[in-house]
Amino acid sequence: MITVFWFRRDLRIYDNPGLLAAVKNGSVLPAYILDDASAGDFKIGAASRWWLHHSLIELNKSLDGKLNVYVGNSKEILTKIARSHKIDAVYWNRCYEPFRIKDDSEIKKHLKTMGLDAQSFNASLLWEPWQVLKADGTPYKVFTPFYQNGCLKADTPRDPLKANLGNLLKDEANETTIGSLNLLPNKQWYKSMESIWKIGELAAQKQLQHFLDNGLLGYKEGRNYPAKDNVSRLFPYLQFGEISPNQIWHAAQIHTNTKNIADVEHFLRELGWREFSYHLLYHFPDLPRKNFQSKFDAFEWTYNETLLQAWKHGKTGYPIIDAGMRELWQTGYMHNRVRMIVASFLIKNLLIHWHHGKDWFWDCLLDADLANNSASWQWVAGSGADAAPYFRIFNPISQGQKFDPDGTYS
Ligand SMILES: Cc1cc2nc3c(=O)[nH]c(=O)nc-3n(C[C@H](O)[C@H](O)[C@H](O)COP(=O)(O)OP(=O)(O)OC[C@H]3O[C@@H](n4cnc5c(N)ncnc54)[C@H](O)[C@@H]3O)c2cc1C
Repeated sequence: MITVFWFRRDLRIYDNPGLLAAVKNGSVLPAYILDDASAGDFKIGAASRWWLHHSLIELNKSLDGKLNVYVGNSKEILTKIARSHKIDAVYWNRCYEPFRIKDDSEIKKHLKTMGLDAQSFNASLLWEPWQVLKADGTPYKVFTPFYQNGCLKADTPRDPLKANLGNLLKDEANETTIGSLNLLPNKQWYKSMESIWKIGELAAQKQLQHFLDNGLLGYKEGRNYPAKDNVSRLFPYLQFGEISPNQIWHAAQIHTNTKNIADVEHFLRELGWREFSYHLLYHFPDLPRKNFQSKFDAFEWTYNETLLQAWKHGKTGYPIIDAGMRELWQTGYMHNRVRMIVASFLIKNLLIHWHHGKDWFWDCLLDADLANNSASWQWVAGSGADAAPYFRIFNPISQGQKFDPDGTYS
């Protein structure tokens, strides 16, 4: 039996439910499809494309050079592969962006009508968005009850699954290579990122270990200080699925001791915020485009191109804002505390619509994620679910004095 395993945001071997199920069937043809047209406005941003290029190279190494990459419409490509290789099944892990849910259900139906076994699995969330609901069956809109009464009372996230690779097949007729996907831009602005990041599943495992050994103790307090090494920096690995949330969840719990119990709880809670963003995106698919609270629709935004450019390029004159925006540009990362401060500044001081900030982050962040980015920008704006009140404005000077007192970060 031959199964196509369609890699998407799960670029790993370890704890990959869909891949493991495909391997159990017999031979596997591993495929990755770059399908920008189906993503529309949400096609992968520039910094993420740089990461993806290297991530695919690393995945291909793990698959002994057998990763088959394609570019174009996913449904057409899967149909073509199925017809030309006597395929019996197509398996993949689920994505939760609204356009993907729509496309995936069409693809599944289509493959089934071709007589194929088409199945999807959960590899990127601890709890499915439809699994955690209020007692009346409606989705949560407030984080604490979602996490405490929903997630923590639902089934414990499954243990990570073992890695297994059986007989892998190469599509010899396919001439597309990772290089020919053209994920890297002509202008080499990404050079500064090359020395900072190690990409791929192996690097993700090392990053997790580094965090458990060095950052977890003191996380609860330390995570607020951008100059401290208390955050995990696991975001791009999670975003591309080079590591699973299940592995992180269980590894943090295994590392719990009497000294770090509050830190572990807080770290798990942050993973819970990621789940909440996905929960919101799944149940409220307009989240990336529309105010979650429609009363904000009447707000009179201003638009000033000069101020927007100054914000984007770290030239506002406020040290912590400018340091954050330069960190984003040069490293593809920005510390969470600083993300909140720069977002508040754009929205509440410059009165520029949160869409402009969200779009800039989308292009520059290595962890640009439709659920987290949309939910977080709306959270800061006050228009989101369980959001910061619209009148709470982060003062860029006192925030700098409090969280970067000696200016190490700025
Ligand atoms: C305006 C704004 C935009 C953001 N855009 C994104 C985005 O595009 N993609 C993204 O993954 N995160 C986004 N975040 C959330 C958060 O800033 C990052 O997840 C976090 O900084 C990642 O760093 P870390 O891995 O070191 O976090 P850690 O503190 O080590 O947390 C571990 C993991 O938990 C999750 N997490 C932590 N904090 C949050 C949070 N507040 N909301 C949701 N999940 C969280 C992330 O997956 C993170 O990797 C945004 C926050 C703000 C304020």
